[in-house]
Amino acid sequence: MIKVVLFDLDGTVYLGGKLIKGANSLFRKLQKKGVPFAFMTNNSSIGPADYLEKLKSLNLPATKDNILTSCEAAKLMLDDLKLGPKIYVLGTKKFAEYLASVGFENTENNPSAVLVGFDKELTFDKLTAATRFVHKGVPLVASHPDLECPSPDGPLSDAGMILAAIKSSTGVGPKAIAGKPNRWIVKLAREKFGVKNDEIAIVGDRMSTDMRMAHKFGMKGVLVLSGVTKRADMKKFNFAPDVIVDSVADFKDDKVFSKLLN
Ligand SMILES: [Mg+2]
Repeated sequence: MIKVVLFDLDGTVYLGGKLIKGANSLFRKLQKKGVPFAFMTNNSSIGPADYLEKLKSLNLPATKDNILTSCEAAKLMLDDLKLGPKIYVLGTKKFAEYLASVGFENTENNPSAVLVGFDKELTFDKLTAATRFVHKGVPLVASHPDLECPSPDGPLSDAGMILAAIKSSTGVGPKAIAGKPNRWIVKLAREKFGVKNDEIAIVGDRMSTDMRMAHKFGMKGVLVLSGVTKRADMKKFNFAPDVIVDSVADFKDDKVFSKLLN
């Protein structure tokens, strides 16, 4: 029995800033049933408080308790790996501000880790500093692995591309990554909702992150075909989602809806 439903955002709940039809009626249906749900994102360019504003402005039923970001997963990862409180953040000011609010100091003075995020404010100096630390043996970690972030004008360079750039110089890849499809964002969901892995359903549009994570951690995987994945893409993977729907609008049908929770 599913006790919490986690929703990926881009390609699942909205596309290019526009809500996908049927999203809000699905949330109302879950609220009526008393099933908690949360919005889950790998995007670490803004912190959870800014995400709350963003989702509210789209009229989504977001609260401070139902948003899971790779920023918070990164905090759990740093704690688990005993890295910090001094770290070098290759990320936005907002990411560094969030990290400062949970006790991590962004500094070039002897950092214990280099943390890569979705750095929309990347500069030559920042990339050089991060690469030099990694050359010296400072552990490299990241909030999430995505190479690109979808946008209406074409993909944006994301954290995975920055990791690849650092590796091209140092030969060193990340020691750990916090967000989907990795364990810290799963731990974040378990801790926030007090549930076990098999009581979680993930609704998402990406096989390589959303569905891989569901498969890897024994959660229910619900693939929507409203984002990056087309039916033909599925044969490239050696696992399959538990449920496949065209979009969240399909859950209007009670028979389909029951597959989400049972
Ligand atoms: Mg997505």
